[in-house]
Formats: sequence, structure tokens, C-alpha cells
Amino acid sequence: MSEPVGEAKLEVKQASKEVKESENVAEKYSAMTVSKNSEITMGELSTVFSAVPTHKPVKKQIQFVEDKQEFSRFPTKAGRRSLSRSISQSSTDSYSSAASYTDSSDDETSPRDKTQVNSKGSSDFCVKNIKQAEFGRREIEIAEQDMSALISLRKRAQSEKPLAGAKIVGCTHITAQTAVLIETLVALGAQCRWTACNIYSTQNEVAAALSETGVAVFAWKGESEDDFWWCIDRCINTEGWQPNMILDDGGDLTHWMYKKYPNVFKKIRGIVEESVTGVHRLYQLSKAGKLCVPAMNVNDSVTKQKFDNLYCCRESILDGLKRTTDVMFGGKQVVVCGYGEVGKGCCAALKALGAIVYVTEIDPICALQACMDGFRVVKLNEVIRQVDVIITCTGNKNVVTRDQLDRMKNGCIVCNMGHSNTEIDVASLRTPELTWERVRSQVDHVIWPDGKRIILLAEGRLLNLSCSTVPTFVLSITATTQALALIELYNAPEGRYKQDVYLLPKKMDEYVASLHLATFDAHLTELSDEQAKYLGLNKNGPFKPNYYRY
Ligand code: NAD
Repeated sequence: MSEPVGEAKLEVKQASKEVKESENVAEKYSAMTVSKNSEITMGELSTVFSAVPTHKPVKKQIQFVEDKQEFSRFPTKAGRRSLSRSISQSSTDSYSSAASYTDSSDDETSPRDKTQVNSKGSSDFCVKNIKQAEFGRREIEIAEQDMSALISLRKRAQSEKPLAGAKIVGCTHITAQTAVLIETLVALGAQCRWTACNIYSTQNEVAAALSETGVAVFAWKGESEDDFWWCIDRCINTEGWQPNMILDDGGDLTHWMYKKYPNVFKKIRGIVEESVTGVHRLYQLSKAGKLCVPAMNVNDSVTKQKFDNLYCCRESILDGLKRTTDVMFGGKQVVVCGYGEVGKGCCAALKALGAIVYVTEIDPICALQACMDGFRVVKLNEVIRQVDVIITCTGNKNVVTRDQLDRMKNGCIVCNMGHSNTEIDVASLRTPELTWERVRSQVDHVIWPDGKRIILLAEGRLLNLSCSTVPTFVLSITATTQALALIELYNAPEGRYKQDVYLLPKKMDEYVASLHLATFDAHLTELSDEQAKYLGLNKNGPFKPNYYRY
């Protein structure tokens, strides 16, 4: 759920990798389960290896301009505001949760100044209030109900313990859904220490529930910048425990370890990274020849991009807009900037409610897709005076400029679903002639001298992450992908993955999807021998070449 670093220019090119898909451990799971829904064992898996044809998967290499971020300052005991480096953008986009716990015993004392002990006598954690554990457990149980594929992976593999001996240090949003992932990793044999990738997104009660069961969690909602790095440091730096795997979202933990604990970093067996931002940083390290550990780019797997970006946004755009503005969409004129995965999801949802949807695009292919889907493709300036809602989804910067903000009509709602807070030129609105009125949480009225006002949501940050919840089922897909990537990297024989960034093997993507089909009682058609031969496919997949676009 993170976004790319501000000035990054991405150029994606393809290159082959010397990894045979048939050898991947997680793929062995998939080969068994795509074709039959029986329980599988690690023993069975080894027989599958030889049955699947080999071919070289494709790796995307992303070239970037220089990253100006520095990771050389560390928290000191002396001062909690001693860090000058800004934390990554993803760590400040908030991520709201359905439930939040408040009780009169909640105080303003920093968790760092409290001594807390769980019921087993351990104090190896730092959360807001360990007494919230029971409420957090309920939240986790609710999330489990919509994450049946991940639970099914847990059940299938827990007797084999494919992560036995894995010491995973994680830095992700700490929500009920992530807790289901963490508890799956523990059930598969891993020991975990966890911290938050975002200073606002931690569900305190969930952090408490995890700490109660023995996962060392260092996170709370509303950390200061210094707390953020302190928590990361406490996860990595503990006596008698050395991590050997990383699960990161945004790359902050990875870079902290890389800079501060190079000897620990060198011994890491694998990094799994979910976000565009973190992947960007890994490719930079790789390009500079400094990546001494294999890494999996989960962000670019099909089951992440096509589901998180498209379906998650299709589900959450209306929720975010409704909660903040109570707007009715029927007949409203809406312009969506960018018709990629996120834009397609937003347009589909808005169209379904009867909105009149315009699209802006720079790419003729995406523009043609928008036309064929029934949307008018326009320049923003053509419709700027008439639209009721503007939504940016481009991953670009300054897509909506101050000049365009000046020309919007009274009451226009302006929000962003794309790249962090760069798409709308919000900074240009912080001038003396304009008045800002905070009318609700995450809702500002920006008022011009003539009385015209626009409704700016989440100060231009991601609307759905800031103002609504995101569907648990989609998070299950991403979490399952992360779990498989960890299993694969941890179990890979030496030499299979070199010091580079890899995409998930196609079969792993297919397996993640297949696990989620059961929810819909969907039944796959099996290829006949004759059909498989005709198409040149193995009956167990992969069913598409790596260049297939879905
Ligand atoms: P994408 O590359 O598929 O789509 C972006 C589209 O914007 C492209 O088609 C591109 O041609 C177009 N574009 C670029 N500059 C433009 C401009 N100035 N005017 C009009 N169109 C322009 O990317 P995506 O998967 O749709 O993701 C878009 C952004 O959303 C990314 O920053 C991504 O990190 C973020 N994202 C958000 C969420 C969320 O939950 N809100 C989820 C996933 C991704």
C-alpha cells in the first residue's frame, strides 16, 4: 500500500533471470493444488519439481534517477527529535482501520516510557496498551474470516513448517489483516519481530494482541519520527536473536539494517518487499552493486498489481468519498486523471453509480481503452470549470495545478488516489489569500477571497488509505503472496537466487489466485492432454508466458 518515491523516474525493461521456475519451493505447492484440492506435504512437493517444464522467468529492472534520501542518522538516547531525515512518504500516509479502541485508561504517556508485561511475563515488545489485547484478538478473528486463502495456506503447510528456523523481521502496516499474515508465518515455524511502516496506521489493539501471543511488536498509532526509527532499531537489535529474513513495505527497515547493521544485513537470506517505494530502493542498491542479498519484488506480481490497484480502488473510492463528503454520485460530473489500474477501478465504480465520468490520459493506449469503455477522454482544462469531483490516479506530480484549482467551480471535491501527495499541487494552496477550514477529519475547505470554496480531501494524500478501509479480501491476496515469497526465498538452495531483485515466479502468482477461488466456489476447467499439447502448456501451469498482460 505504499507509493513511489517523489522524484523517481521509472523505466521498466525486461531481462531474463537464470532461475528455473520448476525449482521453486512455493511453486511446488501450486503445482499440487492448482490441479487438485488435496492437502500437500513438503515431501510430495519434491516430486512435483521434475514434472514441470523449465523456462527462464523475466525480471523487470527499474532504472532510477539518484535517490537523495539519506539513511546515515540514527536515533540517539539523548533526544527523541534528533533525526533530521524525513521518514518515507509511505510512512506518513495514514491508513485508517475499521475499528479503533479507546478507553479511559489510555493516556498520553509514550509507550517508550511504560513498563508493560504480557500474561506470559515477557516485556519484549512496546505497544500502546497491552490490556487492549482481547479487543485486538476479536479484530484479528474478524479479519481471518475474509482471509480464508491465507488460512488455508497456513493449514496446508503448518505440519511441514517450511519456515522453521526463519527469524523474520517485518515492517508493514500493523492491522488485523497483517496480524493474520504474521500469525501464519509463526504457524509455519517462523519467529517474528515486527514494527510499523507507517506512523499513523497501527491498530493499537492488534499490536497488543500480537504482543500477548509472543510476537515482539514495537509500534503504536501516532509515533514520532524518532519513535519510528527507535521501533525499527529495537526489532533488529536485540540480544540473542539475529534476523535472517526481512519482510518490508517501503524499504525503511531494509535500509536501516543495511546502513546500521551491515554484518547482520549480509547474513539475511532474503528480502520480500511489497511497495513501489521499497522496490525502487532495492533496484537502486542492486544497480549500485550494493545489494548483497536476494530480494523478491512482490509489488510487481500480477496478484498484487491487478488486484490491489484495480479491485481495491474500485471498492474503496466511493467509501472514501462518501464518508468524507456524503456526496451523491448519480448525474455528477467527475474527472479521473489517469486510466491505469487505479483509474480503471475508480471509473468503473463511479460509472456504476450513474456519474458522468471524464478521463484524462497521456498514453494513447490507455486513452483508447477509456474510450472503448465508454468514457470521454478530455484535457483537464476542457472540463475544469464544470466538474463536481476531480480524482487523480496517475503516479505523477502536479497533475492538478494551482491555476486549475483557481478555475474550479464552487464546491468541487478534489482528491487523490495515486501517488502520495504529489499529484495535486496542495502546497500552492497554502498562501495568505486563501483560507483553510478543517470541517471534518481529513476534510478541508479551501476558500478563495470571493467566497468560492473547494473541498480538499486528506490534504491530497491517498483518499482510500486515509479516509476509508480497504477490503480484507484484497489484502489476503497480497499477504498470501508475501508468505509464499518468504517460503520460497527461505527454502531456496544456495545459488538459486543471487544478489539481485526477482519477480515472483508466474506459478506462484497462479497459486495465490487459485487459493482464493474457493471463496467464490469457482471451478477451474482442466486442460485435456490433447489441449495441453496443442497449447504447449503443462497441465498444471504456468498458463501464461511472463509477457502476458492480463
Ligand atoms: P498505472 O501506471 O497503471 O496508471 C497510471 C496512468 O496515469 C498511466 O496510464 C499514465 O499514462 C497516466 N498518467 C501519467 N501522467 C499523467 C498525467 N499527467 N495526466 C493524465 N494521465 C497521466 O499505475 P496504477 O497502478 O494505476 O497506479 C497509479 C498510482 O496509484 C501509483 O502511484 C500507485 O502507487 C498508486 N496506487 C494507489 C493505490 C491506492 O490504494 N490508492 C493502490 C495501488 C496503487
